Amino acid sequence: MPVDPAVSLESNLLLRALRGADRDLLKPHLEPITYAKGATIFEAGAAVTHVTFPCEHAVATLVITTSDGRSAETATIGHEGAVGGIVSQGHVPASTHAIVQIAGPMLRIDAYALQDVKRQSPYVRDLFARYSDCLLAQVLQSSACNALHPIEQRCLRWLQTLHDRIGSPVLPITHELLASMLGVQRTYLTRILRILQDQGLIRVGRGRITVLDRAKMEIASCDCHARVRDHYTTVLGAVYGDGGLERIEPHSLSRFAAVEVPFDEPGGKRASEMAKAGR
Ligand SMILES: [Zn+2]
Repeated sequence: MPVDPAVSLESNLLLRALRGADRDLLKPHLEPITYAKGATIFEAGAAVTHVTFPCEHAVATLVITTSDGRSAETATIGHEGAVGGIVSQGHVPASTHAIVQIAGPMLRIDAYALQDVKRQSPYVRDLFARYSDCLLAQVLQSSACNALHPIEQRCLRWLQTLHDRIGSPVLPITHELLASMLGVQRTYLTRILRILQDQGLIRVGRGRITVLDRAKMEIASCDCHARVRDHYTTVLGAVYGDGGLERIEPHSLSRFAAVEVPFDEPGGKRASEMAKAGR
């Protein structure tokens, strides 16, 4: 089904955080696309030609696959972010697979076109740089969690991450999917889910896991998810509510911005005007 770019632009929090002039720079380059569950956005080693923005409840994961056929999730990206090539200068090889876990509409932009927009807009450059920092924080925390924390806590971390991105307590995931995300055997994962269900944290159904008590889940889990959430809040202006990730506050050129744009460069005049206006 065709996706209306104007509607989808509102349903990706990163794009929604852009002001009018910056949206206008991106809009002509945004292309709607819908991926089925399990589809590959890009494969490890292949050139990342597009930056892809999941919209609404669509969720993708960056997955590392080892030579013995096992896999593990390194980052989970929903309507708060973007997949691939955020900071790179164009079409570079991917270091992970990007797999669609929850199907839904997405928007994508050619990586070269995004570079061009970033050259024109210090605000777009700043927003995407801050998002990249948050995504890196998620990846680094995942690697520490995978190495240091027991499977029950790793499982709870991933369920909270997904819950925040879907905004619904009913998570449409199978045991097979969750096992592959966590890099464990399905039978082992099923035993772990049963333990979490007995604790009153989740209810396991066919093709779905329902979050029953988020507050209790947060107490039972390691603090890895909370640390990443705090980083998103501080650096990106992410706002979390009962429905998970609700918005990204439109920032001024923030105190975290690493860019200084000379007045005579494209976008430079706008940069100082935006700073004066408190954007
Ligand atoms: Zn952890």
